[in-house]
Amino acid sequence: MALAVVLQLSMGLLSVAVVDQPDVQRQPAATPSTAPEPRAAGAQRAAPSAAELERAADTERNEQVEQLLAARSAAILGRDRSAFLATVDPRAAALQARQAAMFDALAAVPIGTWEYGLNQRGGRAADAALDLRYGRGLWWAPPVTLSYGLADFDDTPTVDEHHLTFVRRDDRWLLGADDDFDAVGGRSPRALWERGPVVAVRAPGVLALGHKDTSVLRNVASLASAAIPRVNEVWGEQWGKRVVVVVPSSAEEMASLIGSTQDFSQIAAVATAEVSDASGDDAIERILVNPDTFSKLGQLGRRVVLTHEVTHVAARRATGPAVPAWLAEGLADYVGYKDVKVPLSVAARNLRKDVRAGRLPAALPTDEAFTGGNPALAQAYEQSWLAVRLLVERYGEAELLAFYRAVGASEGSDSSVVLTTELRDAFGIDDARLIADWRAALQRQLG
Ligand SMILES: [Zn+2]
Repeated sequence: MALAVVLQLSMGLLSVAVVDQPDVQRQPAATPSTAPEPRAAGAQRAAPSAAELERAADTERNEQVEQLLAARSAAILGRDRSAFLATVDPRAAALQARQAAMFDALAAVPIGTWEYGLNQRGGRAADAALDLRYGRGLWWAPPVTLSYGLADFDDTPTVDEHHLTFVRRDDRWLLGADDDFDAVGGRSPRALWERGPVVAVRAPGVLALGHKDTSVLRNVASLASAAIPRVNEVWGEQWGKRVVVVVPSSAEEMASLIGSTQDFSQIAAVATAEVSDASGDDAIERILVNPDTFSKLGQLGRRVVLTHEVTHVAARRATGPAVPAWLAEGLADYVGYKDVKVPLSVAARNLRKDVRAGRLPAALPTDEAFTGGNPALAQAYEQSWLAVRLLVERYGEAELLAFYRAVGASEGSDSSVVLTTELRDAFGIDDARLIADWRAALQRQLG
């Protein structure tokens, strides 16, 4: 009995079982003077066990944290800054400042949905360091997801796992930290709006998000917008015809936004589905521009790059696992370079150098050839582009697209088997014939 009372008081859980108060959460903190007389209460009914008290405390905590997360969502959607910051532990000054900055950074972003999910059964195990920091039983770190979508652009939300610590302060559960687990692989994703104020620029079908430099953003938005009808002309209109382009401030920021460790120094832009190690298999499609590389391109180069990326976005749903990278990249470059008057000696200059030096490639590039660190990355793109161009010239654009869609729709797990079948069905050729024709074309066009 004595133990139960002590536990009860120390948890600030006034008389959950003893006087059976339904409205536990609004009870003031327990003090000896207001606590019910334990002996009398105990005489009426059995004292709660330690386990029962712990369960009651957990239930209260879970409910409060659920409410806290709902309040955060409502504050973001309702643009209520003080309500948002009221969910954060006032003693965590750095977190308060970061959360305020994030809230402000979101001002120009058209957030359509913002919803947290809480897994009450999960939660980090006992942690002596956190016990010391917050007090034993006064912190909780359950798995939390944040789902958010951009209004008018995202049909399905982006879902990120967050690693948050909730702390109990003066009988209330609040957000206490978002970086307690950084060092143990539990780093919460840092979105664009957690890296400085976000500027949004719109053009028909395009939302471009970036930081300060609006001239690049405006340029990117208008080029991406102009790419949409070009892509429609080849690919057709059976896609969303809306594109979100993100322009981070550096290649480093880009890599960390995608959650990739790839080397992007040779890459001007990517569509997220292109990045093999990007976090999440079904990440929402975005185009990310690498400002370091993109800004060095002229307007024509920028146009080709963005048309290439918009093609990936359009083709994404038709691009199943059997589609080899050379086909996806070749199609994107085919659309990118279509109707652009650039001589092959410029557009395929790296491959041309190889061919002229007697280094005619023996096979189409593997998927691995498209990783950022490949010193022959440019050749991989040029080889793919010319393979797709050859198929279009020889068999027609509609046939090439039908072939792409057939490979993309295939359930087959072995890409090379699928490719062999579809090459035969679409064009009546085998792999060897494709390679031989392609090598002959490279020699003819570039040699
Ligand atoms: Zn690409």
